[in-house]
Parts: sequence; C-alpha cells; structure tokens
Amino acid sequence: MTSPSARHALDDIPVYKPGKSAADEDHKLSSNENPYGPLPGVMERAATQLGRINRYPDAGMTALYDALSAKFGLSPDHFAASTGSVAVLFALLNAHCEDGDEIIYAWRSFEAYPIAADLTGATTVRVPLRADATHDLEAMAAAVTDRTRVILVCTPNNPTGPIVTAAELETFLDAVPSRVLVVVDEAYVEFVRAPDVAHGLDVLAARENVVVLRTFSKAYGLAGLRVGYAIARPAVAEAIRKATPPFSVTDLAQAAAVASLDSQDELDKRVEAIVQERIAMHAALRAQGWEVPQAEGNFVWLPLGDDAMEFAAACDPVSVRPFAGDGVRISVGAPEINAEFIALAAAWRAK
Ligand SMILES: *Cc1c(COP(=O)(O)O)cnc(C)c1O
Repeated sequence: MTSPSARHALDDIPVYKPGKSAADEDHKLSSNENPYGPLPGVMERAATQLGRINRYPDAGMTALYDALSAKFGLSPDHFAASTGSVAVLFALLNAHCEDGDEIIYAWRSFEAYPIAADLTGATTVRVPLRADATHDLEAMAAAVTDRTRVILVCTPNNPTGPIVTAAELETFLDAVPSRVLVVVDEAYVEFVRAPDVAHGLDVLAARENVVVLRTFSKAYGLAGLRVGYAIARPAVAEAIRKATPPFSVTDLAQAAAVASLDSQDELDKRVEAIVQERIAMHAALRAQGWEVPQAEGNFVWLPLGDDAMEFAAACDPVSVRPFAGDGVRISVGAPEINAEFIALAAAWRAK
C-alpha cells in the first residue's frame, strides 16, 4: 500500500519555529512584538464585529483598502491584504513562481522567506549578507539569471537590523531587469530613523516591478489579529489578490486595522518611545564592547556565532531569539525588561 505524499518541494522546508515563550509575556523579547496593547479605540471598534461573526467578512476589504488609499494617496486597486504580510508574500510568490524559476534573497534574513519560496517549487538563491550585516545588493543583482522571477529585499533586515539605503536601492533596481519583481519588505518601516533609508513607495512610483510589503503586526501592535498588505501597481496587486484565499482577513481584524490607522498620534508616540529604547539598548551594548550592527527595527542583533545558543540560555528569564551558529536577536520590550537584558548581556561579557 502506498500512502499519500506531499510535493517534493516540501521536503527541505523547515518547520517554522516560533519565538520561545517566556515565563510571562513581558519577558518575551523573541518575536519582535509590540510591548504596548492595542491603540486607543481599537478594541471597541473590533468588538462591534463580534456580534455578527455568523457572517462572512467583507471579501473586498472595502473599508481597509479605502483607509489605506487615503493614507498613501493611491487608488484602492494598489493594495492586496491578507492574514499578515507573510501570507501576502506566500500569495505573491505563488502567483509568480513555479518549478524551474529562481527566487533570490539575502541570507540571513527573515525565516519565513525560505518557507514561502520553497513551497512554490522554485529554486532559491541565497546571497550572503556583507560583514556589517547589510544586504549585498551588488551580488544580488549579479545573481540574476534568465530564470529569476522575484527578489526579496528586507529593509530593515530581520534579524540583523540594518537598512538598505535609497542610493543602494536605486542602483540595484537599475541593474535588475524590469521583468523581475523586486519585493521591498518594510515590516519595520515605522521604526526607521536613518535619513538615507530607501523608501519603497518612492521607487514604486517610478517602477512597475516593485512591490512594497507592510504589516499591522509590529508598530501597530496587531500581531495577533493578522493583517498585512502589499502596495504595488494595480496589475501586480491584482495577481496577489487572485492568489489569496477569499475571506481570509476577518471583519474583526479589518475593523481593528482601520481603527489603528485613525490613531496616528498615539502610534507615533509609542513608536518613538520604542525607538528611544532601541537607541539606548544599542548604545549600552556597544559600550559593553559588543559589535552590534546598525539597528533600525524594533530589535538588536548580537553576532555571537557559535555562542548563540548558550547566550540565549544564559538570558533566562528573558526570552531572546537565537539562530544557531550565527547570532541572537533581541526585541525591544518594556524599559524595565530591556534593562534586565542589558544587565544579563554585561554579565555574559564579564564571565
Ligand atoms: C514580522 C515580519 C513580517 C510581518 O509578519 P506578519 O505576517 O504581517 O505578522 C514581514 N516581514 C518581516 C521581515 C518581518 O519581520
């Protein structure tokens, strides 16, 4: 008897490893979550949807696309939303790639990339980060072949932290054929303070082969409700929407996302507080002698190499995110927990 078997494309797909949970959620600095709860008014507006969960959600996501349209000054057909920008990426890659195609991304980068890319059956080309943990866009452009369909650019890069600059992205896009789709993943864009950062929306205005990914999971603090979106030329956005399962974003999540967009002032305050904590953590770690790369997201990276796992264990009860043989990512949490982590990092160096 033979049993059913999944496509061979799945053979090498790693099982997604969630951030280690902590004794209490405040000590969880392993998943780049927002330490603040939902923005003012968000719970109330989401709750109005609870009484009608016998109904399917608005598959056209009209209110959400209208709100995004107003925010960005682009018509609603420029957007494609789904259950987090990871789900948008799955749909986008499925819409563009199959066996025999190639997908290029930097490594190390976001752990969801290998999963989303491998699922399509395409071949993946990983281009190593430079020594300072930045994207090597020159090498990525040089890796393009006739089979390349999509290139993923993560700025700031998760888990290492640095941005891609505007000048670097322009040069890169000039070098990449316009038939290749370039995905600029800006999951942490709200936390960026580097003045020379690339703006995905600026390059999107001039080029047809750019897709910008955004999410409500990080700065907006809605990770649990799962809403992310692509911004792209209407034809590209339409292909992503076609490849997305219908009714995926609940009305509860859509209402929460729209309400969050209405809370811009409070969002700005919270993001600025997190940025200030990040700057302080970065400076404190540098002062301890750590080689911390540029940190423009809501996290910092310690390139611990073979000590990554041991360091993470030594951080208990603070939960951090180790990548074996490479480094450890620490999310910016509440100030007192960040201070606890800084003390643990100092103790490690002193041992
Ligand atoms: C967190 C993150 C996302 C967004 O994830 P969601 O699916 O929207 O929760 C996308 N890209 C990167 C690089 C991330 O770190």
